[in-house]
Order: sequence, then structure tokens, then C-alpha cells
Amino acid sequence: MPAHPGAGRPAVRAIRAWTIRRWPLWELPHRLAVAVLVVEVTAVGLVVATASRMPLPGTLELLHAALLAGLGILHTETAMGVERLRRRVMVGNHANLSSVWTFAGALVLPPVCAAVVAVVVHLHIWARTGRPRVPLYRSVYSAATIVLACLGAAAVVGLLGSGPDPLAAAGVPGITLALLVYTSINTGLVAGAIAMSAPQPDLVRVLGRWDDNLLEIATLSLGALTAVALVLNPWLVLLALPPLVVLHRAVLVQHLEEAASIDGKTGLLNAVAWHEQAERLLQRSSPADGPRGVLVLDLDHFKAVNDTHGHLAGDQVLAAVAGALRAEVRERDLVGRFGGEEFVVLLAGPPAGDAAELEAVAERIRTRVARLRVEIPTPDGPLSVSGLTVSIGVAVAPAEGADLRTLLQVADTALYAAKRAGRNVVRTGTSPGIPRQAGEQAPGTGWMVDAE
Ligand code: GH3
Ligand code: MG
Ligand code: MG
Repeated sequence: MPAHPGAGRPAVRAIRAWTIRRWPLWELPHRLAVAVLVVEVTAVGLVVATASRMPLPGTLELLHAALLAGLGILHTETAMGVERLRRRVMVGNHANLSSVWTFAGALVLPPVCAAVVAVVVHLHIWARTGRPRVPLYRSVYSAATIVLACLGAAAVVGLLGSGPDPLAAAGVPGITLALLVYTSINTGLVAGAIAMSAPQPDLVRVLGRWDDNLLEIATLSLGALTAVALVLNPWLVLLALPPLVVLHRAVLVQHLEEAASIDGKTGLLNAVAWHEQAERLLQRSSPADGPRGVLVLDLDHFKAVNDTHGHLAGDQVLAAVAGALRAEVRERDLVGRFGGEEFVVLLAGPPAGDAAELEAVAERIRTRVARLRVEIPTPDGPLSVSGLTVSIGVAVAPAEGADLRTLLQVADTALYAAKRAGRNVVRTGTSPGIPRQAGEQAPGTGWMVDAE
């Protein structure tokens, strides 16, 4: 007897359900997964609600939408190599240059058409930029934030502009306000998701660096000009493509420079970059700048953190310790990760005070790490890691050496003394003078980086 046509359906349904249950979205902390879904459902809901209240778009509006979506796709295709490389090396937030097309759409198209342009451009980016591919749920989330941003910006133009040319009626104040609304909605929603997923969210991590935000404003400004060009003469819109591609390349160069100098796990300078910058800073120092301090830090019994909570949790602890270090020193001080659970700081100014003050900074860092409680979101609920300690060796320039190599050696010896003294302590200079036993290595032997 032939199989019933529907016989395969339960199996297909089971496979589908099984696949949905395996979506990476469910691996997110519960709170974050719910927030992501709420934003996505809101975006879809608002698009449907807006569509039901608005007349069908005219031919010209559809042509404009097709032109912007087509240029968005052309832009992605043209900049494909650059974008793939940028995604591989990028550190921190990923500013999205396709806002040129989506923001232009928000300014001149009916809101629903603008939302469709945003979805098409983002789906195409997701499908084409390849590995390392962003998980689909993240792309859907960022498309939802852009759709909401488009609806917000379109609402501003709709409120402030009227007549046959709402954009001209909204004028510069209307366009500026639309730009601010667009970027606030987009940045706010992305920042919210980062704040919920980062173990120790700091302002830069959540809101992005000043440079990233400036790039976003520049992209949206180009989007505004594109919108004005579209109203004047659709062919003029093509002129937005070359500067955008050049901007894309310039951003890649900036990302490559960062990738070469920044430790991806902690966002601190890597060993080579720290060494080069510290060398330069010391060479430029004059006696009038006061003493400089080199701190070498090693987390105590860090292996136990990995053994107890796993390597991934260990990574998050390293990032949190890096954040604590940064927060405890000044902007110009150089903080680096020398590898593993080892960090290094050059206290470089402004005028760092006397040697006792440098030691006090080290002591502050030690206390801060001891008080650190790292909240790590996991699928089974938040995991809290505390009871961390760090041993710190300090060398003071010029009293204990003028060149970096000597200062690192002195700080390294002091760190060794701190470990021998029971850990979770600060030791300064060579004064502790605890002799090494035969065959024993200083804990920081691997830190020396030759700057050739
Ligand atoms: P001590 O107090 O003597 O410094 O003990 P320790 O356990 O901190 O030092 P040890 O050198 O025995 O172990 C260092 C540990 O740091 C072992 C290694 O797995 C871990 N580690 C190094 N790099 C990383 C990293 O990038 N991520 C994680 N999670 N762990 C790392
Ligand atoms: Mg170590
Ligand atoms: Mg250690």
C-alpha cells in the first residue's frame, strides 16, 4: 500500500521543532532572549499597524524604494572583500555603513517601504558577508532595530513636513531631528542588548567609542544628502556610492591598525603595542614629569578559576579585570595584556606624583580586584565569580631604572617577591630581595618583549 501523502509530515514537523529548539537564540540568558523577541515582535507589529493605516505606495515611491535597496545591495557587493576583512579584525561595536540607504529611505519613502528597504539590505548583508557569519538572530535583531529607527525617523518627517515634498517642508531642523531619533533608537536598542549580555558593561563597551558614533553620524549625514538627491533627481543618488566605498576602506584601515595593537579578549593593548608605546612615552619623559611607574600584575591561582567555572568564564573574568584596571588608572596611563592572566601598566601621567603615590595606585588596583564580582550570564542563570586576587610588582623610574627593559625586570622581580610573600600583595623595587631557588623561574619570564 502506498504511503499516505501526509505520512511524512509529523517527521518534518518534528525536525522543524527540533531545529527551532536548537536555535542559538535560546542559548542567550533568558532576560536577553525575551528582550530580543520583544524588540523583533514590536518592529513587525508596528510595520503591520502602519501598513494598515496607509495608502498603497505609488509607482514612483516603489521605484525609489527599489533604487535604494538596489544601491544598498550594490554597495554590499562592491565592498564585500573590505567588509569580510573588517568583520574578521574588528574590535568592539560594528558601525553599519548601510545606514546611508536605510536612513535615506526613512526620509523620503512611506514608512513601510523604508522598513522593507532596511530588511532587504540587511538580509542581503547577512547572506553575503560569509564567515565568520553573525548568528541569524543577531542580524534579525539589528534589522529590527533599524526598522524601528526608520519608523521613528519617518514619523519625525511626517510630523514636521507636509505637502507634496515633506522632506523640504521638514527642512534642516526636521532632518537633523530625524537623524537624532534614528541614531538614538538604533544605538539605544543595540546598547541595551550589549549591556544585558556583557559581564561588566562599561560605557564604551555599551555605547561604542566616540569614533564609532562619529562614523554613524557621518553615515547618516551622507544618507540625508542621498535623500535630498533622490528628491531632486534619482540619478544623483549614484554619486553617494563612490564616497561610501572609500569611507568603507578608510574604516577598514582603522580597524586593521586597532587589530594589530589590541588584545581581542580584553580590549587592552597587546604586548607588542604596549611595549612600543611605553618605550616612546619613557623616551619623551623629562624629570619635570615626576616619577613613572611600571606595574606588572599576575592573577593569583587563575588556573583554579578555569578549572572551577570553565575557560569561557575565565575569559570573561579576564575582561572584567581589564575593565577594573582601566577604571583605576588615568586616561594617559598605558594598560596592556602581556598574555595569559598577566597584565602590565605604565603609570605615565599627567604628573604621577611621588613613588609612594605610584605604590598607592597599585594598592588601589589590588583592592579593587579583590572586591570584584564578575556576573557572567549563562543559559542556566547568572554565574557570579568573586574572591579573585592579584599580585603586583612595581618599579619606579628613574630611581630603579630609566629604560623599559630594566624597569620590567625590576617589576618582575618584585612580582615574584609578592607571589612568594603569599600572593594578593604589592611589592616595590628590588628591595624585597627574595632569592630565587635553583631552577625556579620568575612568574613573568614570558613577558619580556623585545622591541626591535
Ligand atoms: P599563580 O598564582 O602562581 O599565578 O597561579 P596561576 O594559576 O594563576 O598560574 P598558572 O601559570 O599556573 O596558570 C595560569 C592559568 O591562566 C592557566 C591558563 O589556563 C590560564 N590562562 C591563560 N590564558 C588564558 C586565557 O586567555 N583565558 C583563560 N580563560 N585562561 C587563561
Ligand atoms: Mg602567570
Ligand atoms: Mg597567575
